[in-house]
Amino acid sequence: MTPEQLDAADPLAHFRDRFRLREGLVYLDGNSLGALPVATADRLARTVAEEWGEGLITSWNAADWVTAPQRIGGKIARLIGARPHEVIAADSTSVNIFKALTAALSLRPDRRVILSERTNFPTDVYMMQGLARFAGLEAMAVAPDELLDHLDDRVAVLLLTQVHYKSGRMRDLAEVTARAHAVGALVVWDLSHSAGAVPVDLNAAHADFAVGCGYKYLHGGPGAPAFLFAADRHHDAAQPVLSGWFGHAQPFAFDEDYAPAPGVTRFLCGTPPVLGLAALEAGIDLFLEADMAAIRAKSVALTELFIERMEPLCAAHGFTLASPRDPAERGSQVSYAHPNGYEICQALIARDVIGDFRAPDILRYGFTPLYTRFADVAEAVERLHDICDTRAWDRPEHRVRSAVT
Ligand SMILES: *Cc1c(COP(=O)(O)O)cnc(C)c1O
Repeated sequence: MTPEQLDAADPLAHFRDRFRLREGLVYLDGNSLGALPVATADRLARTVAEEWGEGLITSWNAADWVTAPQRIGGKIARLIGARPHEVIAADSTSVNIFKALTAALSLRPDRRVILSERTNFPTDVYMMQGLARFAGLEAMAVAPDELLDHLDDRVAVLLLTQVHYKSGRMRDLAEVTARAHAVGALVVWDLSHSAGAVPVDLNAAHADFAVGCGYKYLHGGPGAPAFLFAADRHHDAAQPVLSGWFGHAQPFAFDEDYAPAPGVTRFLCGTPPVLGLAALEAGIDLFLEADMAAIRAKSVALTELFIERMEPLCAAHGFTLASPRDPAERGSQVSYAHPNGYEICQALIARDVIGDFRAPDILRYGFTPLYTRFADVAEAVERLHDICDTRAWDRPEHRVRSAVT
């Protein structure tokens, strides 16, 4: 089938109009910042003008601001195979990594090792290292293929990202969790590139803790609140270290001593960011209208089409596939290594195909089935082909490095 025929047969095609995307743009960076849902602007305007402007402080109760972290967490739970009372929307992914790691450590007080992979997303490793320095623990960041060799009864907690940010390689959630549990270790899963991108079933995998991003596949907007999952069975025993008043059993009793709230609420810290949560909820509400199995099927078809169309460029222009070739082993992104990756990425952005670059040499393209069309994939590769044939990337302006790549 041609890309146009695939689009005509696509059961998710109608979702594209629910996003603001200008004509001509091919946006392949929804894995870094999801596109803006049309409904989000209205939702934010209403939250600002009516709830804040008119309702003022009464909106904490009247507009349910105070329960937003749990309400939105309950919606995210449906996307990650969790129960509604196991997830909250709060803070950033980095902060939630700290909260989940310290909660897991509180359940394994006689163990001193936090284990992760060296090539994990940097903030995961940095958070682990900072915590280990502060608490006098050992942070071990090892090569990805040696990870399981280091999993022994000294390990308190394993910190892993399910879908790798650079390569898109996907780990088996259930299998790795079982391996960790077999030596008595707990697992903190980072789902930043999985939630909304691939089907996730945390409870089926007997997962302990998980965190993830609100602004990538969940369309929550720049800097959206992240989420934290804690399995029901750990709620009572896991002790929050960031023991802020919103995680207290009775925040408005203003008790002199901390007592954790029951359930996942104990992992809240300070006052919820209401505007950010409103935008996140609009993104997730839209997402929940779609069927995750259909999203995954289209994601696989989009990435397969991209890889097929890229094959001639690999041969002629030196791109090397840096993602698994088997769709069962990758998330919703495809990466290529190229020595001039940065310049090529910039030249492609100048032609209105937005992907991103990850140092030292990776071009990364994310495929978001709710708005990416098969025709967009074909168009992106065509523009890339032209850039390579004409060496349009080889210009000084494409070598300028911005703060954010
Ligand atoms: C994007 C991403 C993060 C982001 O963390 P923030 O605290 O939101 O900046 C964390 N971990 C992974 C694996 C990511 O891909």
